[in-house]
Amino acid sequence: MIEQQIKSAIRDIPDFPKPGITFKDITPILKDPILCESIVNAFAAHFQNAKIDAVAGIESRGFLFGLQLAGKLGVPFVPIRKAGKLPYTVKQMEYDLEYGSAKIEVHTDAFKPGQHILIHDDLLATGGTVTAAAKLVTEMGGMIAGFSFIVALGFLDGRKKIAPLADKVVVLAE
Ligand code: 5GP
Repeated sequence: MIEQQIKSAIRDIPDFPKPGITFKDITPILKDPILCESIVNAFAAHFQNAKIDAVAGIESRGFLFGLQLAGKLGVPFVPIRKAGKLPYTVKQMEYDLEYGSAKIEVHTDAFKPGQHILIHDDLLATGGTVTAAAKLVTEMGGMIAGFSFIVALGFLDGRKKIAPLADKVVVLAE
């Protein structure tokens, strides 16, 4: 089963990037091309009947499967990046972190108002990043078609943050 395969592949890295944090390292998944293909296919199967005009992936691990998923669905890929990385004109969204804040950006011509955007990231933790990404998309006139994550950390409140769109959230491993 895909959930078990994902859980077996992911490894816990204690005290990364800071003491006290256990980081879920997804890179072992990337060493298994069959599992990678299964992940893309599992996401695509969930969204095959949904109206999706583009997949937006969040830097940087959201690019790994986001682009592949867009290809599988036959739609464009939109990179959402950390501030200062995208070269063309951008729209920016600032959001709070535990300590301080962060900014993400998207190109202003990445998609058209009214288009349905599926937001993808590797992992859902507190939900802060994906909530900011959704705000960025909606403030540009996009509609949220759904969210996809390889893994969600159940002990954090990420799911609560996107609860109003709960029926559009796909998590492969929890
Ligand atoms: P959130 O904003 O939901 O708290 O954090 C999710 C974002 O931080 C995602 O972009 C994700 O890539 C990254 N992230 C936070 N913790 C982890 C982790 O343990 N493993 C991985 N792979 N990414 C994490």
